Amino acid sequence: MYRLATAISRGLVPRAAYTLCFGSLSPLTLSPVRTLCISVSLSAAQPQHDSSSTPTPSHKSNTSNRWKPMCLYHTHGMCTMLDDPAHLEKFSHSCSDEFRVDISKLVNKQPQDFDYFLVLDLEGKVEILEFPVVLVDAKTTRIVDLFHRFVRPSKMSEQRINEYIEGKYGKLGVDRVWHDTSISFEETLQQFEVWLAQHHLWGKELGGHLNRSAFVTCGNWDVKTKIPQQCNVSKMKLPSYFMEWINLKDVYLNFYKRRASGMITMMRELQIPSFGSHHLGIDDAKNITRVLQRMLADGARIQITAKRISLDNVEFLFENRIR
Ligand SMILES: [Zn+2]
Repeated sequence: MYRLATAISRGLVPRAAYTLCFGSLSPLTLSPVRTLCISVSLSAAQPQHDSSSTPTPSHKSNTSNRWKPMCLYHTHGMCTMLDDPAHLEKFSHSCSDEFRVDISKLVNKQPQDFDYFLVLDLEGKVEILEFPVVLVDAKTTRIVDLFHRFVRPSKMSEQRINEYIEGKYGKLGVDRVWHDTSISFEETLQQFEVWLAQHHLWGKELGGHLNRSAFVTCGNWDVKTKIPQQCNVSKMKLPSYFMEWINLKDVYLNFYKRRASGMITMMRELQIPSFGSHHLGIDDAKNITRVLQRMLADGARIQITAKRISLDNVEFLFENRIR
């Protein structure tokens, strides 16, 4: 309650600053890969009445169509400024606008093993600090919903947490919203299960497994390594829904016959512009979602790439995979 009250009592007018850089886009360029990168830094909650806080895109664009950072209080169900036009102009409160899908372009789409994908991209090296999940409809490739929680480490002193968050999120300008909203990992998973159940994707009657859906990650680290580590630190049993997952890099390798070291490489090769701040989990999860949407449209079958046999033993299902 204290944190909620603190958030509400503060004047929350966020700030965003954008820089964009475009590589060679000459029509004479024959290379299939063009360089296109957009980097954005944002601050989700800055003090009010700061005249320098107007977002300043370095290119001219239609204001109503330009990309906006998400209100990270809103993703936590804690935005108190929904009736403030200036706030709504600066911050997105729905990601449907930035993920418009033209269904008529999905002619190559293949049948999928799952009805929904859960794109997950954890942040936090020592303990998990952020748990963002984008729910994607496998048929339409549309975004159905977002789940986003900042996670408070359980085994660190307050001083260590403050230093850790300042170093990790301070430069992205979201350290205050992290402090205002973060909850324990245990509470995060409890809320995540409620969210999954609301979407009929999980239930105790299913043995705790996912229903018609699967996690999609960029690499194996998130589900193979970090989730079990954090469960151990938080003294929790590993939930049954973390027993299998889809490493998008392995699907990418087998579908496009090209090796991609990470999300940025996949986006560059597929000429997908990236938005937001790299290593802000919610933005990375949305950028991985953009890659997934393209792969679905291109006709890739997004299949399970790894299954956990036991806590320490994982079976990889693709012969060609990124090691
Ligand atoms: Zn808001």
